[in-house]
Amino acid sequence: MDFREKLSQIIDEKREMLIDVSDQIWDYAETGFEEVQSVELLCNILQQEGFTVEKGVGGIETAFIGTFGESKPNIAILGEFDALSGLSQQGGLAQAEPVQLDGNGHGCGHNLLGTGALAAAIALRYYMEEHHIPGTIRYYGCPGEEIGAGKTFMVRAGLFDDVDFALTWHPGTQNGVMSMSSLACYEVSYRFMGKSSHAGVTPHLGRSALDAVELMNVGVNYLREHIIPEARVHYATTNTGGISPNVVQAEAEVLYLIRAPKVAQTEGIYQRICNIARGAALMTGTEVEIIFQSALSDLIPNKTLETIMHHNMTELGVPVHNQEEIVFARDIRYTLSEEDKEADIRDIPELKGKEISDMLLPYKESSVVMPGSTDVGDVSWVVPTAQCWIACDALGTPFHTWQMVAQGKTSIAHKGMLHAGKVIASTAIDIMQDLQIIEKARLELIERLGGETYQSPIPKEVTHYILRLHTTKVVGFLGS
Ligand SMILES: [Zn+2]
Repeated sequence: MDFREKLSQIIDEKREMLIDVSDQIWDYAETGFEEVQSVELLCNILQQEGFTVEKGVGGIETAFIGTFGESKPNIAILGEFDALSGLSQQGGLAQAEPVQLDGNGHGCGHNLLGTGALAAAIALRYYMEEHHIPGTIRYYGCPGEEIGAGKTFMVRAGLFDDVDFALTWHPGTQNGVMSMSSLACYEVSYRFMGKSSHAGVTPHLGRSALDAVELMNVGVNYLREHIIPEARVHYATTNTGGISPNVVQAEAEVLYLIRAPKVAQTEGIYQRICNIARGAALMTGTEVEIIFQSALSDLIPNKTLETIMHHNMTELGVPVHNQEEIVFARDIRYTLSEEDKEADIRDIPELKGKEISDMLLPYKESSVVMPGSTDVGDVSWVVPTAQCWIACDALGTPFHTWQMVAQGKTSIAHKGMLHAGKVIASTAIDIMQDLQIIEKARLELIERLGGETYQSPIPKEVTHYILRLHTTKVVGFLGS
């Protein structure tokens, strides 16, 4: 029996337990930095499986590390488990129906992500013990991927400094290795303070903070033409200053996401946006407070590790689906737009007419920068990192939708999740069979950084992510 079969066997033996963990995290549906029950569950399982668990790492209550082993190399398996607000949806149902109105939902499949990574860590722990392979497995419990970039805080706290390589995955609609960079991103709130007054009787005595928000947004929209086309700037008014038009709004707040391929470019655009905010305050006679919430870096791909991951994906094949699963995927696809379906299989003619992907995408290095962002980027600056997609959803399913929540608790998703565990564990063992690969991956990272060293994009004075409690509705920000 080769190592992939053995690792797969360990995961298959723990199948029921792993599915149960994933489904429970799906049920908890806790949003970023509030993943208390999900963390409790994951930590309990890690302890049961012989890992030493340290909670509250990096000064974040819901960040943790589960460790097994003592010697080098140190292997990081990254797990996420946060949900999105406003996306409550019944599992296994192909029509929009929330479990709870305005409730949360796992619209990015992080219940699967965290549990698939857990499967890999557990399989590695038993395999390495049985075969006397030196090394330490660390499961990194990374909170708040969708808001606040938990990993960026964890990297800044030095939690990855002695790691030799990191592996992770993300559920999606395709099977393949991810080999593209992603956009760096800043998350910044602009809070305007004015003076309230009766809007009908004494408007001249008021200073409207909401006017300032509107003028700032207009200013930024004019800025768009004069920034690099790869950049993305989007905003949400998180505090309108109340719902009474007859009150001049004394306070209002807008949240911005500022993205560009590199941190330095993001910083430049951020500074210009801050000036626009100051201009809006000047125009309206209000004051502005700039609250830097969080940030994340662009992703540095690592071909050395990616080709090994791809090789293991080739050896392990892709998840196979039965007729019932294909029919459910078809029902989900009835609810998707033609554009959604088409966008997913563009340039992949083999998938035309399919409901779920049944193929592995060929490995190709891409110079295209994914227009989303991930805090895996910060890990990839300090540790050679590889990640893959595994199909857990019908083709065309967009992220952060009720359709993705609905599929997160089905046998399609469970199959993908267990498969991801096998891919990650096999890739890790493959790498450890030839320690020169680790050195090669490290040298590749140095070369790709071209003399740059990691600087945290989060300013020193921002010690932790601040949940903006008056925010009317929190949706997914930084992640994807
Ligand atoms: Zn995600």
